[in-house]
Amino acid sequence: MHNIIIAIDGYSSCGKSTTAKQVAAKLDYTYIDTGAMYRAVTLYFINNRISLTNPKEVARALENIVIEFRREKVGEGVTYLNGLNVEDEIRKLYVANKVSEVSAIADVRHSLVAQQRVMGAKKGVVMDGRDIGTVVFPDAHLKVFMTAEPLIRAERRQIELLAKGETATLDEILANIKKRDFIDTTRNESPLRQAADAVLIDTSYMTFDEQIGAVCLLADQAIARKIANHA
Ligand code: C5P
Repeated sequence: MHNIIIAIDGYSSCGKSTTAKQVAAKLDYTYIDTGAMYRAVTLYFINNRISLTNPKEVARALENIVIEFRREKVGEGVTYLNGLNVEDEIRKLYVANKVSEVSAIADVRHSLVAQQRVMGAKKGVVMDGRDIGTVVFPDAHLKVFMTAEPLIRAERRQIELLAKGETATLDEILANIKKRDFIDTTRNESPLRQAADAVLIDTSYMTFDEQIGAVCLLADQAIARKIANHA
């Protein structure tokens, strides 16, 4: 009865995934990282040298891709591409540098959006991405749109990459973030934008605990609204 769909969209490195994961854990909901799905497709395209401008090659590749999230640690889904654990590989900068071009392809989006709708059909889900509140679940009970200043996002990303042993300069990361923002917001197919009914959260000067607290409060309110509407 109180299972709702929570859509968290926004720019990269705003803390969407960390927040979404924790909110899902607190509510005992399923967390789905749609960025990981676009990254996994990108990794497959890189490894198999798929030409992004050849629609037939792209369509054939999409038929051969199976993405799963396996629960290996408590509450944490690990991304698998055709049976292989790709969780670390998809976070690397060479994948990040290509992912927005791959995500702009209409066929790629149609294929992943269809899978995401099935994943969210049972409700009780927190899904993060770029088009969840606008395209995947336009009727989501709660929509959050996260933003933060680009330099702050680059600094956060650098710390995350360093923790994984990948060194990259702040300039390199900032350039990647700006390039992805540009492609994500200007693409023809479901560009990144705030849904009219989404709550905007600027995380520039918020701690993770504050972000999680803010979204949990909004979730409690959305659940209460749903219960009241069914009473
Ligand atoms: O969330 P994350 O930064 O891992 O997403 C990587 C990229 O995947 C984004 O920059 C965007 O190009 C793409 N993406 C998308 N739609 C989504 C999720 C991610 O286009 N729902």
